[in-house]
This record gives sequence, structure tokens and C-alpha cells, in this order.
Amino acid sequence: MTTRSVLQPGQLEAAAGPIVEIHLPAEDVFLRRSRRFEHLAAHHTLQSYLLFLAQVTRWQHNELQRSTELPAVDAHTAAQCQKLQIPPLAPTRWPRHPSWCAAVNRLIRATSRHLPEKGKDALAMLEARDTHWMEEQASFLLHNPENDSLDPAAAPFIGAVLQVHWTYWAQSLRGMEPASSGHSAHCPLCGSPPVSAVVHAGGASSGLRYLQCSLCSSQWHVVRAKCSRCENTRDIGYYGLEKTHEAVRIEMCPACRSSLKVLFRKKDAAVDAVADDVASLAVDAAMTETVEHRPIGINFFML
Ligand SMILES: [Zn+2]
Ligand SMILES: [Zn+2]
Repeated sequence: MTTRSVLQPGQLEAAAGPIVEIHLPAEDVFLRRSRRFEHLAAHHTLQSYLLFLAQVTRWQHNELQRSTELPAVDAHTAAQCQKLQIPPLAPTRWPRHPSWCAAVNRLIRATSRHLPEKGKDALAMLEARDTHWMEEQASFLLHNPENDSLDPAAAPFIGAVLQVHWTYWAQSLRGMEPASSGHSAHCPLCGSPPVSAVVHAGGASSGLRYLQCSLCSSQWHVVRAKCSRCENTRDIGYYGLEKTHEAVRIEMCPACRSSLKVLFRKKDAAVDAVADDVASLAVDAAMTETVEHRPIGINFFML
């Protein structure tokens, strides 16, 4: 059974001091995610997939450390984009680095032994694809993930590599990041949609909601009790499975019917926007049975 509640403006917690609008990705963002996947895998019905994703994210951590050959964003470009109020790392203007296809093959070789034989066969086919096909798939993933031609077996590998590159570039913006998040449904750094949202607990951002970018791993602030898609503030509903997924809710806007998963660090300090999104699929399924909604989040590991 799902539970439903409506968040009232009076229930909101106020931040102490000035609000941090954008959190750039931490150095260990993928390492923490890998540990979270391992933790969530215990006694889970998706255990083998979660353990596989623990290996993928561990590889992402190692790859991020060796991504220093990627060009860093220069201060002039960042300043120009800020002036024009456009995301400096939008994939439409910031091209993929040609090394990404070779990185997909390294990821496959590093993780395929953790897959059953059937999965290994699919990966062998992916390894044999040419650059044109890979580039086309990456474009679908970044710009049109609902396209029927997107190969769901390839998406997690392509997405994992592109996440590493864009996370590296987001980190290179430290000190040059936009001052304001724009309160938009899209990442102010790369223009991508969120995976899910996290309500922080403790520290200067305690009680504030941040949307987690699906591509560059940054988080941007959007006030609670406000739909990030249409900005409606009336009667935002929350759905959840409190007994089994205490830290997870799905918020739904009655005006545009869009929904977004929200994770509460107050309930579990270790929640991760990507890992907990995969591990709480049961909440999505239960809500879908209850009410019609359109998720705005995208998770490369669940396409
Ligand atoms: Zn982003
Ligand atoms: Zn809305």
C-alpha cells in the first residue's frame, strides 16, 4: 500500500544562513555510490544487479582519478556562459571527448566477469560496435532517451562513462560555478534532467532539497513544495512505502502530473540519488498502480 500526504508550506524547514545553490560533485562521489550499492544489495531481490552496479561505480571512481587528460573548462568560457545564463557543460555545445568509446570497452572488460553468461554475450556485441553506432547511441541517451533505437543493454555502460567525463568537467568548474541554480528542472551546469532529489540533513544545507544531475553529478537547489517542472506550489503530494523504504518518497504535482523521487538524509544519512533510486523500484511500481504520473528523473542504470 502506498501512503499519501500533502506537504504544506508551514512544514518546511528553514536553512541557517545563506543557501548554497549548487553543490559540485565530491571527489569520492562514485566511491560512496559503490559502497551504497553494496549495502543496498544485501537481501535485495535485485541483489545481483546492485552488486554489478557496485562494480561499475567502483570503476567510475578509478576512471575519474585518471581523467586528467580531459580538457578543463577555461575561466573565459565559464564567464561567458554565466553572462548569457546558459549551462557551460550542455552536451549540445560541449562535445564528447573522443576517448569515451575506448573507455566503454575498458569498463566492459573490468566488469563483465560479474555478469551471467547471457549478459556477457550482449556485452561482446557491444564491444564489437563501431564508433558511428556508439556516437549515435550516446546522442540518444543524452538528448532523446525515449527513442526506440536506444539499446537498453548499452545505456548503462555509455552512461557510466559519460558521467565520469561530465563529473570531471563539473569538478573543474570549482570557483567558476554559476552563483544561482535558476531553480530549474534542468542542471544549471550541463542542462541535463535530474535522477532524483535529495533533502539534506545537517550542516548549512539541512532541510533543503537538491536535484541531483543525471550526467555531471552536481546538485542544484530547488525549494520544496514547488514542482520543479511547472513551478506549481499547491497540493504537492508525497507517496511512499514507509515500512520498507523509509527514506524514499515520490512527489507528484497535481497540476502537470510530473513526479520525482525524493530521498531524505534525515531518515538515512547514506542515501545516494542514483543507488537508492535503483533499489527503490518497488516504490515506483506501487505508485504507478495508484496514480497516473510522468517521472521527470532519468537514471542511466534503469532504462
Ligand atoms: Zn549536470
Ligand atoms: Zn508541475
